[in-house]
Amino acid sequence: MAAFHPQDRAGDRPSRLALALYRIGQAVQMMLRRRAQAHGLSAAQLQALLFLAHARPGVRTVSGLAQRLGATMATASEVADALERKGLIARAPWPAHRRTIILRLTPQGEALVPTLEGALEDLEGLLRDLPEPDQIALERILQEVVRRLAAAGHVAIYEMCWGCAFFRPHAHPDDPRGPHHCAFMNAPLPEADTYTECPDFIPREVEIR
Ligand code: SF4
Repeated sequence: MAAFHPQDRAGDRPSRLALALYRIGQAVQMMLRRRAQAHGLSAAQLQALLFLAHARPGVRTVSGLAQRLGATMATASEVADALERKGLIARAPWPAHRRTIILRLTPQGEALVPTLEGALEDLEGLLRDLPEPDQIALERILQEVVRRLAAAGHVAIYEMCWGCAFFRPHAHPDDPRGPHHCAFMNAPLPEADTYTECPDFIPREVEIR
């Protein structure tokens, strides 16, 4: 079956669902482009600013950005250069590993983040209008689809610690470096870091091998 073949699609529900998700993806890309253009940015630059606003501190590098954008290092570097020229980000050594150069938002970049975060508000509004049982069913189904896409390597999930299989909350409450623990990094986690988005997140229900 082929989702892009009209006759195949007519007789096959998974193909129709795949095409519906493709169209949602197109709409999302359009929303991102429009919000970005309103602020003189490209969609990749918009996503880079959101990445720097919410990603775990240690991954706010050009290579972290490349992974988040699903782009090459050269493309991610061009995006970072353009944002730096606009005064929205700056490069600086990471205090924890001074040979690592991290990207950070400037005050001007930070000021732009709240309006960029609302780029999908039209989609959110449509979903909010659905009856709540439909929202609950859709959330469960879409989360399962995203989980399977991630397992197949089609998308990287950046999420907060609280649903992660590696997260050990309150593992060492008296440790001044942080009360929680990340079993992936084998390191303490301060409270604030548990609310940042991490590329190493694995949903708790997935078995770790
Ligand atoms: S791997 Fe999991 S627990 Fe560790 S920092 Fe990332 S999200 Fe948090």
